[in-house]
Amino acid sequence: MRVYNFSAGPSMLPMEVLQEAQRDFIDYNGSGMSVCEMSHRSKYYDEINNECIALFKELMNIPDNYSVIFVQGGGSTQFEAVPLNLLTGSGKADYVVTGNFAKKAYKEAIKYGDVAVAGSSEDKKFTYIPKDLKIREDIDYLYICQNNTIFGTRFAELPKTSANIVSDISSNILSEKIDVSKYGVLFAGAQKNLAPAGVTIVIARNDLIGEGMSICPTMLKWKTQAENNSLYNTPPCFPIYMAMLTLRYLKKLGGVTEMQKINEYKSGLLYDFIDNSDFFSNGVAKEDRSLMNVPFVTPNADLDAKFIKEASADGLVSLKGHRLVGGMRASIYNAMPVDGVKKLIEFMKKFEIANK
Ligand SMILES: *Cc1c(COP(=O)(O)O)cnc(C)c1O
Repeated sequence: MRVYNFSAGPSMLPMEVLQEAQRDFIDYNGSGMSVCEMSHRSKYYDEINNECIALFKELMNIPDNYSVIFVQGGGSTQFEAVPLNLLTGSGKADYVVTGNFAKKAYKEAIKYGDVAVAGSSEDKKFTYIPKDLKIREDIDYLYICQNNTIFGTRFAELPKTSANIVSDISSNILSEKIDVSKYGVLFAGAQKNLAPAGVTIVIARNDLIGEGMSICPTMLKWKTQAENNSLYNTPPCFPIYMAMLTLRYLKKLGGVTEMQKINEYKSGLLYDFIDNSDFFSNGVAKEDRSLMNVPFVTPNADLDAKFIKEASADGLVSLKGHRLVGGMRASIYNAMPVDGVKKLIEFMKKFEIANK
């Protein structure tokens, strides 16, 4: 039996994508082998690689002066790749600390340059997005984490700055429209909204793809993959293939515009229900709420534990909140159907009546 999986990552993939991968698993496209087994220099894989890059460019409306590259090491490896590639001018960067992942990125960056905090929401346990930022004049970049997976916040608007914005979009890539031209660099691990873990997508404006700092390792230098069509070394072929299938599926659905509508609808249903309940609550500033990750609590921790256990028995799994926040978290990425959210709300109603 398939369950509704509310995991923050790795998370659900569209059923159609899983079925297609299953159909082709043993014999991909008449090659007589699996994508897992084939040379990354074969014509089969070359087509997958090129189609995947082309679909990213099309669906995200990526301007011609940007490159899409595939790297490994997850979103976390970009926490060090970003400063190593970009701290080449003044050697300064400012960070907006809006949660755990932004803080980890900041802690990596301070090893490599003059790195400061432009704003933080740690004073209120990361339940909002700081708007009043102290951005220095001559920085190489301003770093943000656009959707804060653990705390359920998101930048609905970008900070106003002429600096190059670097954004971690690991948990909101392709979930809503993004104007790529407003950024210097975007990156995302695949396992939240796209594919199995293993590939990280970096979208960088070409003038920012250079030699990086002199200590920048070859494998962390974006230029290395950009100059080799992401085939400098063996790429994570299977996750890239799965990403291609997800992108094809998204295109058929109507692209990011359509996906955003569905995501606004889904998250709206859940937030409305929580806001109208005097049993469940969500502590995030309304204007900063994530479309993807919805943390919530019951009146006490014992009831939270009971909720998670009973929901799981009802086929609504992985609702436990992150250990830093407690309570529950429903991650409702692109692949979570509207029906999954409706079923969760029905369950919440029943639970409230039984436990109030
Ligand atoms: C999950 C996540 C990460 C970490 O990704 P890994 O691939 O596990 O390194 C970084 N940033 C955000 C916003 C995330 O959601």
